[in-house]
Amino acid sequence: MELQTPTADATIASLRAGIAGSVALPGEPGYELATPWNLAVPVTPRAVVAAANADDVAATVRFAAQHGLRVAVQRTGHGAVALGGDVLLVHTGRLDGCAVDPLARTARVGAGAIWQDVLDAAAPHGLAPLTGSSAAVGVAGFLTGAGIGPLVRTFGLSSDHVRAFDVVTGDGAALHVTPDEHAELFWGLRGGKATLGIVTAVEIDLLPITQIHAGALYFDGSDAAAVAHAWLDWCRDLPEHSSTSIAFLQLPPLPQIPPPLAGRLTLAVRFASVAEEHEVQALIARLRAVATPLIDAVGPMPYAALSAIHADPVDPMPAHEFSGLTGELSHEAVDALLAVAGPGSGSPQTVIELRLLGGALAREPRHRSAFCHRDASFALMVAGVLVPPLAEAVVEHAGVVEQSMAPWTTGRTLPNFAPSADPERIARSYDEDTRHWLSALATEHDPHGVLRVGQVVRTPV
Ligand SMILES: Cc1cc2nc3c(=O)[nH]c(=O)nc-3n(C[C@H](O)[C@H](O)[C@H](O)COP(=O)(O)OP(=O)(O)OC[C@H]3O[C@@H](n4cnc5c(N)ncnc54)[C@H](O)[C@@H]3O)c2cc1C
Repeated sequence: MELQTPTADATIASLRAGIAGSVALPGEPGYELATPWNLAVPVTPRAVVAAANADDVAATVRFAAQHGLRVAVQRTGHGAVALGGDVLLVHTGRLDGCAVDPLARTARVGAGAIWQDVLDAAAPHGLAPLTGSSAAVGVAGFLTGAGIGPLVRTFGLSSDHVRAFDVVTGDGAALHVTPDEHAELFWGLRGGKATLGIVTAVEIDLLPITQIHAGALYFDGSDAAAVAHAWLDWCRDLPEHSSTSIAFLQLPPLPQIPPPLAGRLTLAVRFASVAEEHEVQALIARLRAVATPLIDAVGPMPYAALSAIHADPVDPMPAHEFSGLTGELSHEAVDALLAVAGPGSGSPQTVIELRLLGGALAREPRHRSAFCHRDASFALMVAGVLVPPLAEAVVEHAGVVEQSMAPWTTGRTLPNFAPSADPERIARSYDEDTRHWLSALATEHDPHGVLRVGQVVRTPV
């Protein structure tokens, strides 16, 4: 048993004695694991439990039930929500195993793995997981939010490729969950975030992909209108072998930013495809003909390098996000977006992105899940950095974008984007039936509400 520091209280000391991992109170080494990637979110739990195994997670949940505390889970904090002193935070970082079965084309991945871990383990076998745009994101957090990646139109949601979960539910049970065992949890864990439990490991399909044609064309802000309108037309007949988004970027004038993109407005057309090179060249030629890119970075790339397509920031930062889904978009919608994101708009946002959805995403997979809104046409995402002097303007302007795009947005959102603990916001990720069933299952598996914290679907107490 560890020695108690002067700050350790007697209650927490008994948890410390009962688990293989470590428990850190504020000020103790290990508590810094609570600091999320999104530095704008106050994550100040009673204690941080660095779980060493699934038993630690179950012991933490049982301990919390006995002591009137609640339990939240975090890996990277890319989707952090505010947590306070009545919460024990399970940090999954030590559960980072990743075992690839090359014959079965599957991987068993600990909940503490990030996507880069899985990419690196799978690539030597000529295999690949269906990741998101950033390989620095946690696997379990991503998959429980369904997961929309750069190849989403070809292969569907990443969570459509989950085979099994190991999960600890709110009553402290450790369950193996598959389409046949605890099928209701298998349904709800794919889209329901941590509503139904804390995932400790996940088994996923791997795809036989080593190389894709992908990257981004970066255009000058002055070409944004012509390119954005052409892109919309181009999207209309884009085959399912390709996925794309446009992003209005205002990247800071920092040494690590390529000089043509630093300190100015640019428009990135992001693209990823499993098509043959000649097909990709023909497709991209239509966009290259609209204007000359400042940087033309679409070409063959190793799948494991796909984070380069979006080039999302890796280092922690104080971020503000807004996200929404749209139906079909017209050129009027593109004009509305240009007015708030394009040249002369005064937008303080670092990125305003529109992702084309549809394709395989729109089809229900063999095993249905709690992900709703497969019928959405585009995902809109707005992200700004909350540092002076822009912080206030970033928040206000996100509201302006929301209003300007309201004629086309559905009022719905994706569970993985713009995380929130606000029940009204959370509700936007689901239809009414799904909300009802997630909430009912949560009550059944967590009668005392130990996991009723953060981004979870529960009926109000
Ligand atoms: C730069 C950036 C790029 C992104 N790109 C994409 C993208 O391309 N596609 C996409 O779909 N999303 C994307 N996201 C959103 C991201 O997938 C979510 O924020 C996701 O929740 C991150 O998981 P995490 O574990 O890294 O984050 P954390 O903040 O650690 O976790 C966020 C939430 O995920 C849930 N969760 C985490 N671990 C577990 C677990 N073990 N069991 C149960 N629930 C758990 C909990 O609800 C937790 O509050 C991006 C986010 C950022 C900031």
